[in-house]
Amino acid sequence: MQNHGRLTGWIEVVCGPMFSGKTEELIRRMKLALIAKQRVQVFKPQLDDRYADEYIISHSEQKVVCTPVKSSADILALVRDNTRVVGVDEAQFFDDGIVDVCEKLANRGIRVVAAGLDQDFMGAPFGKMPELLAVAESVLKLSAVCMVCGGEATKSQRLVKSKEQIVVGSGELYEARCRACHDPDLSLEKEIPSVPVSRKTHVVGEQIEQI
Ligand code: ADP
Ligand code: MG
Ligand code: ZN
Repeated sequence: MQNHGRLTGWIEVVCGPMFSGKTEELIRRMKLALIAKQRVQVFKPQLDDRYADEYIISHSEQKVVCTPVKSSADILALVRDNTRVVGVDEAQFFDDGIVDVCEKLANRGIRVVAAGLDQDFMGAPFGKMPELLAVAESVLKLSAVCMVCGGEATKSQRLVKSKEQIVVGSGELYEARCRACHDPDLSLEKEIPSVPVSRKTHVVGEQIEQI
């Protein structure tokens, strides 16, 4: 990370809805840094205990070692002197200090890669992600496949009744949807029939087979 002879760090943000491949992309970037023999540390907020504690795992089962932390200040405390690259997954779940922590690390010469949801289930900006996107040197906005129409999904549809901004879960609680198919009120008003997402995926598969 040389810039006019000075050692510089920077902030990269990978955002998008659920299932858009944010964790996959974070893992890919971390693996490339490891191939380049750079020292890497990855963190995620502790509230996310969907999978194994000591890894970040994508929906496609790729994984990389990570440290679950309770607050953004823990990241600053745990980053070692010789670490060149810091990865942060589920950045939207961190406390308000996360932007300052990423900036401090970048100013120290570290490459920070933060992945997170840009929007919550209502389609509103999530946590500190808007600020993180604003101060980042590089931003990648990914999309997923809309589970209703097969189009480009930019939003996360909650499939259960709850007004809470944070309800941790994946396939059974959420699905990716495009703007036209996304219905923020669905999760507040209607009872959802319990059709597993995996069954819908199967239907898409059968249609492809028929073609
Ligand atoms: P994110 O971290 O953004 O939630 P992951 O990186 O964990 O996403 O997982 C992305 C993977 O999820 C894709 O490569 C694909 O295998 C799988 N997947 C499941 N449902 C979808 C969908 N609706 N659109 C795109 N990918 C999906
Ligand atoms: Mg993820
Ligand atoms: Zn759609």
